[in-house]
Amino acid sequence: MSPVTHLLASWIIAAKTTDNPRDCRLVTLAGVLPDVDGLGLLVDGAKSLTGPGDDYYYYSIYHHWLLHGLFGSLLTAGLLTCFARRRWRVLLLALMVFHLHLLCDLVGARGPTPYDLWPIYYLGPFSRHWTFVWHGQWPLNGWINRVITVVLFFIALWMASRREDSVVGVFNRRVDRVFLGVLHKWRLALTSPSRTEPNPVHNPGTPRGSQTEGLAPESKPVQTRELSDMEKADQKLAPLVVKPKNDVPPNNLLP
Ligand SMILES: [Zn+2]
Repeated sequence: MSPVTHLLASWIIAAKTTDNPRDCRLVTLAGVLPDVDGLGLLVDGAKSLTGPGDDYYYYSIYHHWLLHGLFGSLLTAGLLTCFARRRWRVLLLALMVFHLHLLCDLVGARGPTPYDLWPIYYLGPFSRHWTFVWHGQWPLNGWINRVITVVLFFIALWMASRREDSVVGVFNRRVDRVFLGVLHKWRLALTSPSRTEPNPVHNPGTPRGSQTEGLAPESKPVQTRELSDMEKADQKLAPLVVKPKNDVPPNNLLP
């Protein structure tokens, strides 16, 4: 599958299974780094600019051969674990998402021609034993991969709208904060009633025309809770309030 699909799937798993941004980033990278052995494509591209030749020479030789196997998984997970906070957890998760990458490539990486099935050389680059090929493999740019990518994209977006980080944070935290700011605004706009709509539920503890009126429900849950607690406290304290003998309310309670 494409690196974008691997990235989204790995981030979703990492976001659900790690408890800090650093480990989340490391586990996500474990699901993407196997495709580093496909960087021969850049060399092929540079060569095609300078003269005639096989467009996919280095790509076809080294991609799925160097890092798409057991060696690649141990190397990648081992290196990433060195930078982790919870090392055992990151090691296991990195191995898991790495092998998910291999599984995804096994089922959906065919191409560029219809007869190009991409095997997984599990003992590569040292041996061709334990080579796996699935003949039902669908094209890399086929509709199944597109549907999976779109679904993963929206899941990642939905998760990010409820978190303090997103898949963008794997690459740059500052850009991620900007992205999340926009995302949260969109979520509020989509889930909140119009600002001009009157609030159908009037909290008796909240004066009409106060600053909270007309704001989105998400923006005032804390105040609603506080007022609710205050009301409860008022109810409890009501029997204990002793009226002044002359029944004249204090100045600060006059209407
Ligand atoms: Zn791959």
